[in-house]
Amino acid sequence: VDSKLIRNFSIIAHIDHGKSTLADRILDVTGALTAREQKEQFLDKMDIERERGITIKAQTVRLDYTAKDGQTYRLHLIDTPGHVDFNYEVSRSLQACEGALLVVDATQGVEAQTLANVFLALDNNLAIIPVLNKIDLPSADVERTTREIEDVIGLDCSGAIPASAKTGIGIAEILEAVVERIPAPKGDLNAAPRALIFDSWYDSYRGAVVMVRVVDGIIRKGQKVRFMATGRDYEVTEMGVFTPHATAITELGPGEVGFLVGNIKSVVDTKIGDTVTDAVHPATTPLPGFKEVKPMVFAGIFPTDSAQYEDLRDALSKLHMNDAAFVFEPDTSEALGFGFRCGFLGLLHMEIIQERLEREYNLDLITTAPSVVYHCYLNDGSMKSIENPAKLPPPNLTDRIEEPIFRMTVHVPSAYVGAVLALCQERRGEQKSIQYASSDRVIITYDMPLSEVLFDFHDKLKSVSRGYASMDYELVGYRADDLIKLDMLVNGDPLDALSVIVHRDKAYARGRDLAVKLKDIVPRQQYEVAIQAAIGSKVIARTTVKAMRKDVTAKCYGGDISRKRKLLEKQKEGKKRMKMVGSVEIPQEAFLAILKID
Ligand code: GDP
Ligand code: MG
Repeated sequence: VDSKLIRNFSIIAHIDHGKSTLADRILDVTGALTAREQKEQFLDKMDIERERGITIKAQTVRLDYTAKDGQTYRLHLIDTPGHVDFNYEVSRSLQACEGALLVVDATQGVEAQTLANVFLALDNNLAIIPVLNKIDLPSADVERTTREIEDVIGLDCSGAIPASAKTGIGIAEILEAVVERIPAPKGDLNAAPRALIFDSWYDSYRGAVVMVRVVDGIIRKGQKVRFMATGRDYEVTEMGVFTPHATAITELGPGEVGFLVGNIKSVVDTKIGDTVTDAVHPATTPLPGFKEVKPMVFAGIFPTDSAQYEDLRDALSKLHMNDAAFVFEPDTSEALGFGFRCGFLGLLHMEIIQERLEREYNLDLITTAPSVVYHCYLNDGSMKSIENPAKLPPPNLTDRIEEPIFRMTVHVPSAYVGAVLALCQERRGEQKSIQYASSDRVIITYDMPLSEVLFDFHDKLKSVSRGYASMDYELVGYRADDLIKLDMLVNGDPLDALSVIVHRDKAYARGRDLAVKLKDIVPRQQYEVAIQAAIGSKVIARTTVKAMRKDVTAKCYGGDISRKRKLLEKQKEGKKRMKMVGSVEIPQEAFLAILKID
């Protein structure tokens, strides 16, 4: 196809503003799906995604659209995930586009992730088409939302399109706008081929599959190609596009988007942001790549039954092959035995992996409290990365401990500003700015330790703002603070998997809180059980689980309340996950109690 007739675009939105629904409507209008398929949200493929209503894996679709000018255009719609944990996927997908539809729920207005996504789009010089969604709802306020986009983002909204992804209002206008306002890709047909890898996944029959956006030249089936960053060569054995069904093709020209297969063993060999070129006549310079992603949150995953250790290892390998952002290595815990230390992008990513392990691989697991990565500087000047609090070197060898700091951007109606500021302050936040987006909406920026964000900050934020606040965050660096290790002991046995690194000022409160929580969670035994919190050898809090058996109601841990509740209900249905520690049975909830601090 002539590249003048190609349009590459994404849909960006805050979660629940209607991105997936709009993508489905676009597929309907371009006739890509049968009636039966239209019933389902086609772009959210995995079961878990459908249940959670989020899109984990970016999906890219080729559509043919005949515009009012009579020409048939080739549209590539690149779906992007909408949660902060997956921002890196948004960013790499946007790099493959010339434009984006900015979907804003007209009953809600601009939210934190609307802004974060728009900045990513502007960074990539994309043409942005604002879409004001859900105008079928009586509470939709198009004028006010338009004003907010103009004030907060500084985006011209004269061409904003009022729409309802649900009823179909505005969809025809959106498609015309895509053709008219998003520039065609520019690329040199005769140059050495260069294609950007922006996604990859593992297919058990084909090996790693890479999704590419061709910039210059042509990539053909049968061609010997080179991945410039890894220096490896492969023969392209298969090529295809999603229409949205996988359809075989034989070549991709400038501006086109599709997938390549070529005996690639693992997604680890397919570096996101790498450039594919011709192996015989390679391009001299690669395309500008993008940032590598690093796991931010670590937790131990242990089988409740040690006989499942090998199965767990296999399952983790498979998940890693499909998701390079998820990492793992063998780990042992005195309390929990043999298992793995796993790294995730964030808590949602962690929960999704845990859920997949249990559901798809049928494993019974204990996941320990998540921890951030601390930088521990020793007296000899060397630095150790600490992903597991139990492994923190003793204080007498330590010069200082630094922790990751996130810049939080919180959007909130002005009525709740005081409550949000108090919460941020309590979480060791350092205020950066307070800005009025409109007369009654405020943007608050704080630098805050990631560990404080992990401990149910989102829940707390929602509760102090009656659900109205939204947040976004990014890593800005590391900062030293007065951090110490807090250990929990059960009948004198240290529960290494429950150790946490905390600020000294909070150690007593946290220790007491945990001891009280564990008292409720640890089932009664035939004898009395002592639960202690300790800093080094000094016990700072103690509770006692009285002897005699009695049913104990499980306590909830932190995070998004409705999602967690569902998870807990599911947990209750199945066998209650327990682990013998010394002589005491400890249930899964104990390890996550740390996340819920009152
Ligand atoms: P995403 O998280 O941005 O992908 O949002 P979804 O497409 O999953 O939509 C979130 C919710 O809003 C779903 O319950 C949709 O049915 C609903 N929704 C999406 N678009 C509209 C709309 O135009 N009108 C109404 N009334 N509901 C909508
Ligand atoms: Mg969605």
